[in-house]
Amino acid sequence: MRKRALVVGLGIAGMSAAIGLSRAGWTPVIVERAPERRTGGYFVGLFPEGRQAAVDLGIADHLHTRNPEQRAGGNSWSVNRRGRRRPALGFLDQPGGPAAVLRGDVEAALWQSITGVEVRFATTPVAITEGPAEVQVLLENADTGARYGESFDLVVGADGMRSSVRRIVFGPHEDHLVNWKAMICAFQLKEQVPSYEASDSIIIARAKRAVWVFGLADHAPTALLTYRTRDIQEQFSGSRVERLRAVFSGMDDDPVVRHVLDSLEEAPDHLFDSVHQVRMPRWSTGRVVLVGDAAWCMNLYSGMGATSSLRGGAALGAALQAYPDDLDAALDAWEAGLRPFITKHQRTARLKQQMFVPSSRRAEALRSVLVGLARRIRGRQLATEAGGAQASALSGTSR
Ligand SMILES: Cc1cc2nc3c(=O)[nH]c(=O)nc-3n(C[C@H](O)[C@H](O)[C@H](O)COP(=O)(O)OP(=O)(O)OC[C@H]3O[C@@H](n4cnc5c(N)ncnc54)[C@H](O)[C@@H]3O)c2cc1C
Repeated sequence: MRKRALVVGLGIAGMSAAIGLSRAGWTPVIVERAPERRTGGYFVGLFPEGRQAAVDLGIADHLHTRNPEQRAGGNSWSVNRRGRRRPALGFLDQPGGPAAVLRGDVEAALWQSITGVEVRFATTPVAITEGPAEVQVLLENADTGARYGESFDLVVGADGMRSSVRRIVFGPHEDHLVNWKAMICAFQLKEQVPSYEASDSIIIARAKRAVWVFGLADHAPTALLTYRTRDIQEQFSGSRVERLRAVFSGMDDDPVVRHVLDSLEEAPDHLFDSVHQVRMPRWSTGRVVLVGDAAWCMNLYSGMGATSSLRGGAALGAALQAYPDDLDAALDAWEAGLRPFITKHQRTARLKQQMFVPSSRRAEALRSVLVGLARRIRGRQLATEAGGAQASALSGTSR
């Protein structure tokens, strides 16, 4: 008989795990707290490991990518304190050449590949009890309030940074969430900032406050406001728009910042949240395993959350397939294979945070010098490559 797994969460990690489980011969059942599948979302850069996981999961052909065509001189701009714009290195110019997508693009590709998997919306787990041969879950329907028990061979908690599965089984959020004393607000712009090309990216990274606009090929740009603060709790009180206007006051004489703040008021939805990492000594216990942000949230600065969620789900399926009759061995092998990758990117996220939002004026100046240097090196590389291509084209025509 096929083993049954409850997957909690219909995000990138949950759907990746469901595909992995199906391929390993399991029957996944997904429960999702929201009443329906979400779409859209913010800009996400998918790195080579994530693209490889998409291939492994069989979703690569469904994945719509939105990298703008590179113009000579680049598509990214930074704006300095005097309001002058200069060509810059953007997020997509990083080593590994990330693929530009919206979070919803990845989820849509996964969704197309989980046909046949049972999905129950407006449903959450409220209690999880391990027995010797199965795990008993009490589920609640948010619409009716009805509760019912059901048993599974495995529970996969893929329910994000503030995971209920983690809280129920592994302990309170405070035990696992590391506060990065920073906030983010991400949303889609209705229109590009005036005087910029539609697919341009714009970076204004000041000490403790930053505004990023991510240009896309066939979609309006998305915006990210991020700032550092000691008092996270306080940020959630009052109107968010007013809060952000207050935080970015003094920068809002810049037309880019003004446009982004004005657009926020008109945006149909936005994500406003504090930044954390999830640190856990182990991601599974008995018949319960956590995947994605629930287990190891690296946070947005790492740029590896979606990539690692895809990879984590794919690897879980592969491990269960490799050890069909030994769950402990499968989960051991899965974690041993994945942890070095996660640890590395959790660590480098601190450095990347400085690139997103410098911690001080000195860090801001250093960032500017480093990015300028990296851009010159990149420019030389591109010129050499172009020269090489031209030379080989010429030698090709002379033959
Ligand atoms: C602004 C921003 C930019 C980012 N940029 C990048 C990037 O460039 N590259 C990158 O790789 N990553 C990026 N990330 C990170 C990436 O988006 C996440 O790491 C990834 O989407 C996490 O997926 P997940 O499935 O683990 O969690 P989530 O996306 O949080 O999904 C969890 C799902 O579980 C559901 N759920 C929650 N609680 C319950 C419950 N109790 N019961 C049932 N369902 C529940 C939720 O509704 C949701 O559908 C970014 C994140 C942000 C916020």
